[in-house]
This record gives sequence, structure tokens and C-alpha cells, in this order.
Amino acid sequence: MSELLANYWGGRWQTGSGAGTSLFDPVLGTELVRIDATGLDLAEGFDFAREQGGTALRKLTYRERGALLGAIVKVLQANREAYYAISMANSGTVNNDTAVDVDGGIFTLDTYAKLGETLGERRYLLDGELARLGKDPLFQSQHILVPTRGVALFINAFNFPSWGLWEKAGSALISGVPVIIKPASATAWLTQRMVKDVIEAGILPPGALSILCGSSQGLMDQLQPFDVVSFTGSAATAAVIRSHPAVTQSSVRVNIEADSINSAVLLDDSSTENAALELLIKEVTREMTVKSGQKCTAIRRIFVPDALYERTAAALSARLAKITVGNPRNETVRMGSVVSKEQWQAVQTGLAQLKTQAELLFDGSKQPLVDADPSSCCIAPSLLGARAADAAPLIHDTEVFGPVATLLAYRDTAHVQALVRRGQGSLVTSLYGTDPEPLAAMAAELADSHGRVHIITPEVAAIQTGHGNVMPQSLHGGPGRAGGGEELGGIRALNFYHRRSAVQASTNVLQHL
Ligand code: NAP
Repeated sequence: MSELLANYWGGRWQTGSGAGTSLFDPVLGTELVRIDATGLDLAEGFDFAREQGGTALRKLTYRERGALLGAIVKVLQANREAYYAISMANSGTVNNDTAVDVDGGIFTLDTYAKLGETLGERRYLLDGELARLGKDPLFQSQHILVPTRGVALFINAFNFPSWGLWEKAGSALISGVPVIIKPASATAWLTQRMVKDVIEAGILPPGALSILCGSSQGLMDQLQPFDVVSFTGSAATAAVIRSHPAVTQSSVRVNIEADSINSAVLLDDSSTENAALELLIKEVTREMTVKSGQKCTAIRRIFVPDALYERTAAALSARLAKITVGNPRNETVRMGSVVSKEQWQAVQTGLAQLKTQAELLFDGSKQPLVDADPSSCCIAPSLLGARAADAAPLIHDTEVFGPVATLLAYRDTAHVQALVRRGQGSLVTSLYGTDPEPLAAMAAELADSHGRVHIITPEVAAIQTGHGNVMPQSLHGGPGRAGGGEELGGIRALNFYHRRSAVQASTNVLQHL
């Protein structure tokens, strides 16, 4: 039997008392480790984090907490090799894709470490300016932001076991709020190993960081009014979280990052169509294949002017044909596998659904796999197409969480805007063109339904950060079906972990805040 990973719970390492759930190598099919949380005293772990971890963190200033994050960054950097090996084995990723998760997580954490330094020797933050409450300027109001006196529970998705933890933990810990992470079972190993390294390095005060690997059963029941829960995953599970009494009755603050039918739009700009089209093709290929399309931000719908539909289909298909798919241990392989048999099956089912309303422009199933068995979880990219985009509702509504995207044709600006909005709120859209004015106008038009609008013009082609890459400086989240959540965005991320209060007093009192 494989190793049973321990949970760090209530300030000590504890293994579950059950048989455990096995984690597998999605390419080789071998069992790697097991996870289990059966029998853990959930109430004890939450109390410990809330009381020990929270109290200790709140005693520190933002600068001191930033220094702790900086020390975590060093530990994670020192162990990168082990994380790459775990990711290849458990997530089936090639090194370039592991980097998005592992190095992306470390980079994001480092950004919040540096932010702590800039916030300085304070334990709470001022929010806005003094506001006069009447004619006499002596009595005024000052809003302040103080760390919430609870825990931050993170329930995370399988696709980013590293970044998913650190992008949330950076802003929680810098705010002085202890973290409990429950990673998705399929890929929990990497998260567990990172937490283990950090705990063993003795950087954080006891209770500041806990991990539970296994079933989520009973976790939400532990939440109390000043706790917060940040969930990343499917819309179906999000609905369960949202309707839990902790949220509906105790006002536990909840942040939801769910699925999203993101888009890419080539503007109708005939004078420059070649340059912009080339940029779109490059970016879409990258988005479809990085992490085998298992990115919440990946491009799912590609909109081009009707006259360019065939040309785009041919150019994209030619690019996709060059992607080598298979065992990530083989250096010629560019794209590894999806994370599990369940995900492989879910991609096949989703693809079959989309095919009922779209033509198959590039058939990934015809591609040979490199060093991998057809029974592995490797799956080559497939491109679909629907020229009559209005008549294909499934394309605007179905997230196939794998290397699959659909090319769609549009008539004019109003038409493409209406089509993009059929995603009902997305994490990100990217726009391709060369004329600044229509690009800016389109961004302002689509911003209401997107957490991020990413514009790629020839002048930024070599330096742009990527449609799907989530940068800590910019907001991550999206309205509507994307979950309505907000993460990152620099200092904005700290709002979720702070409580805002208005202090009304004489100016003499307020100047001491
Ligand atoms: P999922 O099945 O909803 O699972 C997400 C997490 O919720 C896992 O940790 C899961 O634990 C846990 N969970 C399952 N049932 C639960 C319940 N009843 N109560 C509390 N927790 C429960 O999602 P997934 O398949 O892991 O992730 C893929 C989805 O995540 C995709 O749709 C993707 O678009 C979305 N995603 C969104 C973002 C974003 O930032 N917007 C980022 C990444 C992924 P177990 O694993 O133990 O079941």
C-alpha cells in the first residue's frame, strides 16, 4: 500500500483512521500516495487555528507578516525540484505547465510579502479620508479595516494545487488571518508537501496554517460568523457552499471562483488583420494546450469576423497539429495529460455534447500519443467550429475542462458583444487588433461582464503576460456564472480578510488611529 499522507491539524501531524483515497499517476496509472481525514476532530482544528493562529498573527504588524511570507517563499524555492516531480507524477504536467502552478504560486506569494513591507508597522488599515459629519469639523468619521477574528477556509480545485493555495494564503496571512486549506483530493499531494515543508521550517506561529486532505464532509458546519470561506471549483459545488447555513444564517463571508466560458475576440480591423490574426492564433493555441486546457481562465470561445472564419480554422488546425502530446517525462512532449480518468471522461462527454452543435475542425483523437498508452489520461487538443454562432447555445454554456475550444463567426461589433455576453459573466476575455480606439471602446463595453479584459496588440506582443495568466496585480474573478468572486488585484485582495468599521469621534481622537 502507498504512503498515507498526514494532515496538519490542531497543531500536530495526524493521519486519518480510514483506508484512505488513492492518488494516481494519470499517465502511468500507478498509485502514488493516499489521503484520509477520517476521525479528525474538526472542531478542535478550527478552534486551534482561530484562537492560537489568529491571536499570534494579529499581534504582528503587516511588515512582520510580510517577512514571514518572504521566509515561506525561500523554503518553497529551495524545494522546487520536489514540487516539479510531484506535479509531473500526480498531475501529468510537463515542466512548463508545472511552472504556471508552482512558480506562479511562489511569485504571487512574494508579491504579497513585498506588499506587507509597504504597509509597514501597522496592525490595521485606514480606509479613505476623514469625513465631516456636520457643520462643526470637530466631529468626524474615519473608516478602518481590521483583520477578521476568524479563520479563512480554502476549498480548492484540482487544477492548481500550488498556485490555488498561495494566491489565497498570501492575502489572508498578510491580513493576519489563519488559513485552513482543503485541497481537491485528486492532486492534494503537492499542496500537502508544500505545507509540510513550510511547517517543518518553523516559520509560522502554531495554528496559522493547517491542512486537511480528504473528504470535505462537515467542514462548512464548523464555520462561525467571523470566519471566511474561499471556494474554487465547479458551479455545482459552489451552489452547495452558498446555500450552507453558515453562509445563509451566520453571514460567513464567501468568495466563489467557479467555471467560466472565456472568450477571445479578433476585432474587425481589415487594415491590420494579418498581424492581429497571427497574435490570436498564437495565444489561442497556448491557451488550449497549457495544462491541457485545465485552466479556469482558458479560452473556450474564439470569435472572428465571418470573412476570416476559414482562414482562422486552417491556421489554428495547423498549429494544433504540431503539439506533441503524451508522457511528460519525454522531452519532446509539449502537452501532458489531464489529471484523472474522471476528468478524461468528463472531457470526452463535454466534447460529444459540443459536437451536436458544432463541426469538428481539428480532431485530436487522430493524433498519436508519445510514450503513452491510449488508456492513459492523455488527450490531444480538438478544435470545434460553429459559423452560425447564435444557433449554438451549448457552446456559450458548456465548459469542457480540457484542450477544447470552439471557433465562432460574427457579423459586426454589436453582434460579437452580444455573443460574448452569452457566457453570462466570465473571468477574462482577450481582444486582438491594432487600432487603439476600438480596442479601448470594446474593453469598456465588455468590462461589466468580465473580471479582466486582456488586450493584445503588436506593440505588446513580446511582453504581454498572457490571456490565461493570473497576475497578482490584477483582479481575478468574474461576475455571474464565473462565481461573482474577487481575488488578488494587489491590495484589494486584503478587503476580503478585513472588517470595515466607521469610527465616529472628535478629530483629536481620530488622529490617534
Ligand atoms: P469541484 O468538484 O467543485 O471541487 C472543488 C473542491 O470542492 C474540491 O476540493 C472538492 O473536494 C470540494 N467539494 C466537493 N464537494 C463538496 C461539498 N459538497 N462541500 C464542500 N466541498 C466540496 O471542482 P473541481 O472539479 O475540483 O474543479 C474544476 C472546476 O473548477 C472547473 O469548473 C474550473 O472552471 C473551476 N475552477 C475555477 C477557478 C477560478 O478561479 N474561477 C480556478 C480553478 C478551477 P474533493 O476533491 O475531495 O471532492
